[in-house]
Amino acid sequence: MAGGAMAGGAKTDGTMADGATPNKLTATPEGPRSKRGAVELVSVSKRYGNTTAVDAITLKIPAGGYCCLLGPSGCGKSSTLRMIAGHESISDGDLIVDGQNIGDQPPAKRGTAMMFQDYALFPHLDCTDNVAFSLRMRGVGKAERRAKARDMLALVHMDAYAQRMPAQLSGGQQQRIALARALLTNPHVLLLDEPLSALDPFLRVKMRAELRRLQRELGITFIHVTHSQEEALALADMVVVMEDGHIRQAGSPREVFNHPRTPFIAQFIGGHNVVPAKVEGLDAGMVHLSGPGAGQFTLPLGSRPAPKAGGSVSFAVRGDRVTLTRPDAGSAAGLLTPNRLTARAVGAEYNGQTVRLSLAAEGLEDFVVLMDEATFHADPIEDGATVLASWAPEASHLLDDR
Ligand code: ADP
Repeated sequence: MAGGAMAGGAKTDGTMADGATPNKLTATPEGPRSKRGAVELVSVSKRYGNTTAVDAITLKIPAGGYCCLLGPSGCGKSSTLRMIAGHESISDGDLIVDGQNIGDQPPAKRGTAMMFQDYALFPHLDCTDNVAFSLRMRGVGKAERRAKARDMLALVHMDAYAQRMPAQLSGGQQQRIALARALLTNPHVLLLDEPLSALDPFLRVKMRAELRRLQRELGITFIHVTHSQEEALALADMVVVMEDGHIRQAGSPREVFNHPRTPFIAQFIGGHNVVPAKVEGLDAGMVHLSGPGAGQFTLPLGSRPAPKAGGSVSFAVRGDRVTLTRPDAGSAAGLLTPNRLTARAVGAEYNGQTVRLSLAAEGLEDFVVLMDEATFHADPIEDGATVLASWAPEASHLLDDR
């Protein structure tokens, strides 16, 4: 069966299933093997002339995982991916896949395959021949390569389109063809450069689920470059946040979302407010801070070294964990919490399930509170109103400078 052949090719018994193309690098018939595609970058750098695009990054991606490289444009994500693919030379450092240093190997011998952002399909070839192209280059006979291509087309649910030309396909369908073509080489690691960015939002969410399904089914490593935090959180087992050629944080989506390490990550990953504050004192594992909006804050110190009294720090607080009360309504509820600041409402944006309410105070721009839309509309907070924002200590955490 079509999909079964490929899924079988990725199994853990170290053998190649029928229909899978043996990969010279790692097709070892002897002995069982665990999941394929463990990737390790050891102090890897990329320099273009005087520009350091990637600065000595070290990263271990477990075999069979879904890793998203996440960061703003220009942070070095694509350069990293292209170095893994072998489309860009490594200026310094080692690249290890399944225990072998492959930094000097040509792309076709690395056990990797790349799916490009623009799909790069051949306009004059039908879907089957597009998918079979790499086998044609290797001299595999027509009947055999078309049969294998059809297996791949079935895996991505495109078998009904085998004879269509690329121009007769939608963007999402072209993408599936490009995926099938990359998977035909039986890679241990599939590299995807912004694979969803050309799709409309509805299709993007659908294809996202499809990529996840394929990755689980095949059990190979996917490394996916994106600037969308939503995409990374939805897809990845491991999110790697990059900034200025450095890895700033790597962890599970929940770790990165719940505990962004720096102000940059907190802002980039979204859902958090970054508040500058001054250290007033410490006791029993808690740090007491003062800040904008006559703010008083108490945060758990955790395992971090104690900051100096009088020093400047910043902390993150989740926008969906903040409670708002009106000080003029005589409510004392907010005043009893150890974390509170007073601010002015400067705009409310209706987002369907939630309302995104922006607050401002001197020294604090755009403090965002996410409110359930029914709660907001039961007692709407009008622009210019003064509110007391409060939250429990565990909704916030101290940030590292960088
Ligand atoms: P991202 O994928 O995160 O947008 P890139 O890896 O494409 O980032 O680029 C990182 C940095 O390297 C940027 O400053 C970019 O301008 C630079 N860069 C990328 N490719 C080249 C190149 N071929 N020549 C010179 N500079 C490049």
